[in-house]
Amino acid sequence: MQLTNRSKQVDRSPMTFLESIYLWNILKGMGVTIRHFFKKKVTVQYPEKQRYFSKVFRGLHVLNRDEEGRENCTACGLCAVACPAEAITMEAAERLPGEEHLYREEKYAAKYEINMLRCIFCGLCEEACPKDAIYLSETFAPANYQRKGFIYKKEDLLIPHPIKEKEAYEKAKSGRVDVKKKD
Ligand code: SF4
Ligand code: SF4
Repeated sequence: MQLTNRSKQVDRSPMTFLESIYLWNILKGMGVTIRHFFKKKVTVQYPEKQRYFSKVFRGLHVLNRDEEGRENCTACGLCAVACPAEAITMEAAERLPGEEHLYREEKYAAKYEINMLRCIFCGLCEEACPKDAIYLSETFAPANYQRKGFIYKKEDLLIPHPIKEKEAYEKAKSGRVDVKKKD
């Protein structure tokens, strides 16, 4: 019984002399190779060249600070709950007197980790966050030989200080690739 009409009848008739030396098949194969040789290359020579991302591309996460450099995250856990891949873990801590210049809210994330091997870059953590504390940037996680290299800790995710590290902060903020340019 046939489930589809896609099956082909196999021709089992004996091969002619020309078929038996496979010359015609070799020429056909070379024809395919030559045709592709002159087509536009789809491979991007990374890292010398970089591909152009769509405006809605979602890459590596960034933990945000406010204009005074205080961490926005209040460790409410909503991003972790929203994450379908269970990639986010955190530990909350109480802000102590004298730490107001470090953390914007009374609670902050003492530990914040994202497992990039689990993450599917869906952006739900960004959408769930009520504090504008996390967003997905336009860069992607670099290759690594170790699994632990893909566990991004708070230090890896936190955006540079906007006052103390102004240049690095500006660079981190304007990471978007110009989608109109072509290579
Ligand atoms: S982008 Fe999606 S999968 Fe990745 S950490 Fe955020 S919610 Fe989870
Ligand atoms: S990043 Fe946003 S949602 Fe996640 S714990 Fe911090 S404040 Fe809450």
